[in-house]
Amino acid sequence: MRIVLLGPPGAGKGTVARLLSSGSGAVQISTGDILRGAVQAGTPLGREARGCMDRGELVPDNLIIGIMEERLRGPDCRKGFLLDGFPRTISQATALRELLGRLDITLDLAVNMVVPRDVILDRLTTRRTCSNPDCQEIFNLKTRPPAEGARCTECGAPVVQRDDETVDAISRRLEIYNEKSSPLVEFYAQEGLLFTTTSLTKEESLKDITEALGQAPRSTR
Ligand code: ADP
Ligand code: ZN
Repeated sequence: MRIVLLGPPGAGKGTVARLLSSGSGAVQISTGDILRGAVQAGTPLGREARGCMDRGELVPDNLIIGIMEERLRGPDCRKGFLLDGFPRTISQATALRELLGRLDITLDLAVNMVVPRDVILDRLTTRRTCSNPDCQEIFNLKTRPPAEGARCTECGAPVVQRDDETVDAISRRLEIYNEKSSPLVEFYAQEGLLFTTTSLTKEESLKDITEALGQAPRSTR
C-alpha cells in the first residue's frame, strides 16, 4: 500500500501509520521522527531544522523534499509506504507527485483524518514521546501511560514532553496546519485520491482506511 496521511497534529497519523505498517510490510515514514532524530544526533540537518521545529513552524520545503527524495528511493519502500507528516505544503505535494512519476509509482490513497480542535488540544498536551531517537514510541498520560518512573515500555528510555508540545507551540502548529497544510485536502480531492475519516479511535480509523483501500481503484496492496 502507498498512502499519504493528512490531518492536523494530534489527529493520529503516526498511530495509524504504525498499525498499518505492522500488518503489511509497508514502511512508515515520519518526517517528524526523521527530523527529531537529526536534532538529537546534532547533524547539520538537525541544526538547520531545530529552530523552526521548536517554534512549531515548518522547516523549509527544499530541506524536506531532499530528505524524502532520498528516503523514497530506499529499497525498503518497494513493499509500500505510509507517509506521516509529508507532504505538508502544496509545493511538497507537487514535488512528491513529480518524484513518484519519475519512479513510476502511484499512490493508493490520501487519508484525511478529521478531529475536532478540543480533542486535539487534549491529546497533544497529554502526549509523551520516548526520548530514544531509534524508538520514539508515543504515550498518553490518560490513555496509554508510560512505565514506572516515566520510562518507555518498549526500550526503557525516559519518556518526555516534546519541546513543541507546550500550549503556545501547539496553537502555532494548528494555525500553520490551517494555513499551509489544509489546502492539501483539496489537492488530493482533485487527484481523485482523497478519503476522509472522522473516527476518533485508532480501531475505527484503521477499519475505515482498510475498507477504503479495498475500494481504491489503483490499489496495489
Ligand atoms: P505533528 O505532531 O505536528 O504532526 P511532526 O512530528 O509530524 O508533528 O512534526 C514536528 C515538526 O517537524 C513540525 O512542526 C515541523 O517543524 C517539522 N516538520 C515535519 N514534517 C515536515 C514537513 N513535511 N515540512 C516541514 N516541516 C516539517
Ligand atoms: Zn522507547
